[in-house]
Amino acid sequence: MNDDRTALRERIREANDIVDVVGSYLSLRPAGPTFKALCPFHEDKHPSLVVDPRKQSYKCWACGEWGDVFTFVQKMDHVEFPEALRTLAQRAGISLEKNQKISAGPSKAGMLDVMKWAAARYQSCLLDAPSAEVARDYLGERQLNLGMIRQFGLGYAPDAWEWLVQGALKEKISLDLLEQVGLIAKRNEQKGHYDRFRDRVMFPIRDVQGRTVGFGGRILPSSVVSADRPPPKYYNSAETAIFSKSDQLYGIDLAKQAAAKTGYLAIVEGYTDVIMAHQHGIAQVVATMGTALNERHIKQLKRIVPRVVLVFDADAGGDTGVDRALEVFVKNDLDLRIATLPEGLDPCDLLVAKGPEPFRAALEGAVDVFEYKLQHAWAKHGARGVDGQRQAAEELLGILALTPNERSVKLALMVNRIAQRLLIKEDLIWARLKELRAKRAGSASDRTAPRETPHNPPAEAEAQAAPAETKAGPAPLHERELLELLLAEPALVPRAAVEIAEDEMEHPGLRKVIEALYRLHASGQPADLDHLQGIIDNEKLWQSMRDLAQKGLDYPDRPGVFQKVLERFRERKTLRRKLAIKNQMQDAAPADALELLKKLRDHQ
Ligand SMILES: [Zn+2]
Repeated sequence: MNDDRTALRERIREANDIVDVVGSYLSLRPAGPTFKALCPFHEDKHPSLVVDPRKQSYKCWACGEWGDVFTFVQKMDHVEFPEALRTLAQRAGISLEKNQKISAGPSKAGMLDVMKWAAARYQSCLLDAPSAEVARDYLGERQLNLGMIRQFGLGYAPDAWEWLVQGALKEKISLDLLEQVGLIAKRNEQKGHYDRFRDRVMFPIRDVQGRTVGFGGRILPSSVVSADRPPPKYYNSAETAIFSKSDQLYGIDLAKQAAAKTGYLAIVEGYTDVIMAHQHGIAQVVATMGTALNERHIKQLKRIVPRVVLVFDADAGGDTGVDRALEVFVKNDLDLRIATLPEGLDPCDLLVAKGPEPFRAALEGAVDVFEYKLQHAWAKHGARGVDGQRQAAEELLGILALTPNERSVKLALMVNRIAQRLLIKEDLIWARLKELRAKRAGSASDRTAPRETPHNPPAEAEAQAAPAETKAGPAPLHERELLELLLAEPALVPRAAVEIAEDEMEHPGLRKVIEALYRLHASGQPADLDHLQGIIDNEKLWQSMRDLAQKGLDYPDRPGVFQKVLERFRERKTLRRKLAIKNQMQDAAPADALELLKKLRDHQ
């Protein structure tokens, strides 16, 4: 029996190539004999996850996650081994049990099964049934072609109360499962089930791997409805373990390959906007399901692309959508831009009327969300002189105060831009920002002063407060090595920017160089010596940078040394936190001291 199990597991493993499986969740780029992707298990800025087809394994060189095809599915789907086995068996068309019917409990696999069954049924109805002519006409009027209708799996739920229910009974599909996923519902007084979707065009909503997890149904304009209780134009299947409206990105399965090529994904509002964009050869387009862009979307998107373009109608500018987008932008490490369409058309209308070029141009010309908000705030208040400037700054700072790390390069860049554009002194902006943050921290928790948060332990705050121009002693070894590496190999800068904050550099001269490198990187320029030359105007510093770069070039194994240097920075950070806690303990009340002692132990 156990041997059978092992054999079955190995058969399933062999039938699921790791590159295909990982590639169905993440976008992969070939790298020699292996493939690389942005690691989904840590905040990854540069592809650190290596998938090796020869070993059928994956490993992240940054966070250390590794495993095989089973562990990968377990981690990604948040399921136990048996469920992962089931998913992969299904993927390969291998049956786990004899005579297995779709009748098992409410497992994810069971729900996916009935969704797949229903999608096929709705689609064959749309394509072949005489009763679906009205739906075919509707899609034809919207100019959607047959290729797209097939690719997106569109279907039709006919105008009948038991069409799906009867089909399920005939094919022995579990009515319980269909009810759980929200395609049918129970009648009152236990008199069987009825179809929830009637006379609607059905848009299957698929996850990143192309599995149907839900449906959106659009009512046909011709549908006979009661005037006093008009049904909603769009209607969704139920929220389940496999489908959550606020997580989903419509079209992500078909957009991710194109996005890997263009480097960005565009987000529009409607299903037909997405399909029409694909029909015009612009495939890096998805839609949220009627919800604003949220943190969970961002998490998914970051696995695929570093840049996201939100497409707004021209008249939607300056409203809460933009503020919300800016909030997401300041809280997350993501390049978020806004594209506005000409003449207030939605993407679908624009594409039908003018072809792909104006839409493509709008996407390529998208403005970063901060710049967009800055322009709008200025347009709104700028005319009112100094008061207007202050008002515009206030609008921006209210959102900037949400930045998790108050010493990030990104925040510094934004403050700098506000200062330049609104002609306000940078010091004043920082002071106001501090006030706003303190207010927020105060209202979030009355007991915890902001300086006790892990991002800002006292020792670090003091280091930050030290003037940058103090006399430089000899630089600590790990700081010098870091600079040697970064100057010799600029490709390491992005990783360093994630791991090491500028103010972790104790040596003021080296800190200046790091700040310059990060600034270059954040503004999209190469962080190399050539570009540094334009920024560093101190002859002596410049000379020592060249010396450092030369030393860096002599290292036989730069990535290896880099890892060690990162490790040393981490150790130092821990040490500094411990010291800070110890200092606090000296003047803490006994009860608080106990709490601090616990903290200290967590850092051991
Ligand atoms: Zn990782």
